[in-house]
Amino acid sequence: MRYWLGIESTAHTFGASIISEDGSIISDERDIYVPPEGGLQPREVARHHTDVAPSVIGKAFSKAGIKSKDVVALGVSYGPGLGPCLRVGVAVARALSSYYGWRLYPVNHTVGHVEISRLLSGFVDPLAVYVSGGNTNIVAWKDGRYRIFGETLDIAVGNLLDSFAREVGLKHPGGPKIEKLAREGAKMGLIDLPYSVKGQDVSFSGLLTAAIKTHRSGEKLERVAYSLQETAFAMIAEAAERALVHTRKSSIISAGGVAANSRLNEMLKYVAEDHGIPFFATPIRMAGDNGAMIAAVAMEMDLGGIRSEDPQSLMPTPKLRINDTEVNWRINNFRVIMGDYK
Ligand code: AMP
Ligand code: MG
Repeated sequence: MRYWLGIESTAHTFGASIISEDGSIISDERDIYVPPEGGLQPREVARHHTDVAPSVIGKAFSKAGIKSKDVVALGVSYGPGLGPCLRVGVAVARALSSYYGWRLYPVNHTVGHVEISRLLSGFVDPLAVYVSGGNTNIVAWKDGRYRIFGETLDIAVGNLLDSFAREVGLKHPGGPKIEKLAREGAKMGLIDLPYSVKGQDVSFSGLLTAAIKTHRSGEKLERVAYSLQETAFAMIAEAAERALVHTRKSSIISAGGVAANSRLNEMLKYVAEDHGIPFFATPIRMAGDNGAMIAAVAMEMDLGGIRSEDPQSLMPTPKLRINDTEVNWRINNFRVIMGDYK
């Protein structure tokens, strides 16, 4: 059996995971930095990643029960992300590749999110709604790349939720806390907040300002959280539906950290059902940043005959976009299996 290692360090998470050639995730380790207060300070996060990298990678190997000689290649997220954080993962990967002679694949983090969701879903060519702390992209594969068919014109939906949460005194990450509050707020009724779909795209900054103002004017937090979620997710669902009709894809997946939200998945499922196609919600464990998605792409690139990178020349690329990367190596009719990592 051959094995691929994936390393992730673009933002809050340092992750390492090993995937075997039958698609099984045989280890998936991560250590997530939680800021003592406020948002993420890139340098603080990078220091955390440097501290935990050896133990996270060590655990990925011991849990997998394999030796270094069993690994054929490794992948590392080289962007997009926070520069200081990316540098940690890239430096570690360069060193491991040089020392062990493993082939090295630079993986676009955003492609990793979409691919792990696709490979878990079993769908061959879905429309992907990729929603995370730093990205809101509706993408579909066309002519050798994931192309953007809708996106946020300002802040990402995860950032919207996290920023609102921070303003009202909740700790990072805000998304899961808002989801819980929203469940309680549902019975209080919807407050009208700015709904902004522009063509294929969405815009969240006006919604953020209005939600903060509404809460400051005395409205209950649960009700504002509910209204904020409903408004933001309905916008995403509308943009996704437009993209679906345009691209004529025959399935939908959600991907990225915000895909852990069951209300968002419910709305996307309605869209899919309306069009008579299946929907797959990424399991929470694989929705957030993780090493398995990077290992999976490295495996696809390696098996797809892509030439590996010279460890000396791999550089972090903080401003990478999903459509900057060629994706001409997708394996179809292949599934990644979470096994014990459900
Ligand atoms: P990522 O950038 O992919 O690691 O995802 C992190 C983002 O996902 C953060 O903005 C979180 O607030 C958000 N997130 C995590 N869980 C949930 C949830 N249950 N509902 C909404 N957002 C979430
Ligand atoms: Mg991410």
